[in-house]
Amino acid sequence: MRILITGGAGFLGSHLCDALLASGHHVVCMDNFITGRPENVAHLMGRERFSFVKYNVCDYLHVDGPLDAIMHFASPASPQDYLEFPIATLKVGALGTHKALGLAKAKGARFLLASTSEVYGDPLVNPQPESYWGNVNPISPRGVYDEAKRFAEAMTMAYHRYHGLDTRIARIFNCFGPRMRPNDGRVVSNFIVQALQGKPLTVFGDGSQTRSFCYVDDLTRGIVALLMAEADRSVTERTNRAGFLSQRAEPPSESVHDPVNLGNPRELTVMEIAGMVLKLTGSNSSIQHQPLPVDDPKVRRPDIRKVKALLHWEPTIELEDGLKKTIEYFRAIV
Ligand code: UDP
Repeated sequence: MRILITGGAGFLGSHLCDALLASGHHVVCMDNFITGRPENVAHLMGRERFSFVKYNVCDYLHVDGPLDAIMHFASPASPQDYLEFPIATLKVGALGTHKALGLAKAKGARFLLASTSEVYGDPLVNPQPESYWGNVNPISPRGVYDEAKRFAEAMTMAYHRYHGLDTRIARIFNCFGPRMRPNDGRVVSNFIVQALQGKPLTVFGDGSQTRSFCYVDDLTRGIVALLMAEADRSVTERTNRAGFLSQRAEPPSESVHDPVNLGNPRELTVMEIAGMVLKLTGSNSSIQHQPLPVDDPKVRRPDIRKVKALLHWEPTIELEDGLKKTIEYFRAIV
């Protein structure tokens, strides 16, 4: 397949470039380096089957030649980044998604949206199944990301139902691994860098809030499996223009076209993560409590029954093993 990855020089995007090239596909990587980094794809430059375009996906989008799939991964993705780039975050989720969908339609390409567990907001249900509609504050500082991704999901489903486009939506929960930026502000990278530098680990609030962390290799495998899964014929036939207007009467299906949670269901408190990072790095850094960011979700854990049934995917890499690999990566660069 020839696959366009927007945000291909980002943390997840660059791992996807690697995985798809390793499976023999052709990759067109697009990034404007707002939060992506040239060094994430430097090892791929000049490789056969790989090309790079520096471009903002929100602008009129043209790619020469055929495309079999488009993976829309462009977006600031850490709370610190989307607070720093609120308008770019809204634009890439809204305008960028529209442009990427339009290109997919023009090329007859399959489309996969990188969505997020943030669509569930500060969830009142734990773990979160795909059927949960979420608890999002649209005007909160993090609303720029949550609402952009919710709009992106709505737009993707509209292209699927109205235009019959073959679309997929991955709701990606917290993940970590090599190529996160040392200063991107996310908890795992922050704690590892702080521990390695002997600085205090900054725990926001009392650290009792929970997250569930998936190692990047597991996640990449899940995303590729979702992209490659056979389209659900009955759904594709049903969701034509008439289907969109008449709406579906049946309950949410186990279709590959409806959103799919991808993440590791092992749930830990932020304090537990801090303890684990201290132990694995052998650091004697202290803990420093800082104010909890506005609307920071109190709990988060994916319900992964759907992806298990649909794609036979589940994470296999133990958190400790993933953390060790990530610590090695940061040890070499900080
Ligand atoms: N967090 C923290 N210290 C940090 C960075 C984050 O305690 O230095 C907390 C943050 O408040 C949240 C959790 O860790 O409760 C995960 O934050 P992250 O930014 O990694 O992602 P989120 O899940 O909030 O999008």
